[in-house]
Amino acid sequence: MQNKFHPTSHLTVIIFFTIIATLLGTTLYVAPGSFTKAAITQISIQTAPEPIPATADRFYAPILMYHHISDTMPAGPYVIRTAVFENQMAWLKDNNYHVIPYSQFYEALTTKTTLPEKPVILTFDDNNKDHYENALPILKKYNYKAIFFVPTAYVNKRGGVMTWDMLKELVDEGMEIGSHSSTHPNLTIIPKTQLYEEELRGSRKTLEEKLGISIKFFAYPGGAKSKSVIQAVKETGYLSALSTIYDPNHSYEEDPYKVSRIYVGNSMENFVDFINGRNLHKSY
Ligand SMILES: [Zn+2]
Repeated sequence: MQNKFHPTSHLTVIIFFTIIATLLGTTLYVAPGSFTKAAITQISIQTAPEPIPATADRFYAPILMYHHISDTMPAGPYVIRTAVFENQMAWLKDNNYHVIPYSQFYEALTTKTTLPEKPVILTFDDNNKDHYENALPILKKYNYKAIFFVPTAYVNKRGGVMTWDMLKELVDEGMEIGSHSSTHPNLTIIPKTQLYEEELRGSRKTLEEKLGISIKFFAYPGGAKSKSVIQAVKETGYLSALSTIYDPNHSYEEDPYKVSRIYVGNSMENFVDFINGRNLHKSY
């Protein structure tokens, strides 16, 4: 794994900069001058955010979960302003993160192979029209590929959702599409026939027929899952399913049917912290 770090590397960095800071303190006291100024500049650059270190069986690959990219709805963890979303994408580029398709993450997870350094995955749930209007132009600008999880009963059916033509355009732009069920119910409480036939098999068949692509991935509506729901997702042919389990760390032992994600709000400070694995459980 290129993105693996020795478990003690983070500690080593902290100790290293503590020593440098101590030396600098001495220098400041003894001989303030141009050398000190240069040292301060150097330190401020080198203490820029770093990804948290991975251990032997853990690696860091935040899978970001977006719902609305909107300038009209009340902002919150599920509604990100367009300008904030653009800043987030620009920050990833400026800080050398590699936005990879979910399929690449899945391949690495299941074949135990490497990912590019500093990987980030972008996911969009619920087939909202603002994905097409506000997110797609920014994704195209940065050449980022995301996956869109679509509840098929929503397509063309109510205000504020994407049409099949919009979804085809996403596919043409290299975006990935996954199923988010048909009617977005709580899968743990619906009848078995509805679960298997309508929500799992039916949604996949509709997406495949309408878009002419193979659908391999699923996202649990509302994150609701149970042992029998996971079993149903497996039996109906999906290769992997994403949850709302909140963890940016992944493991080669991770169940591909319980893949964790994180969601981000409108605070750039929080975004940078979350991407770098800091203060992961602070509120929005
Ligand atoms: Zn949803």
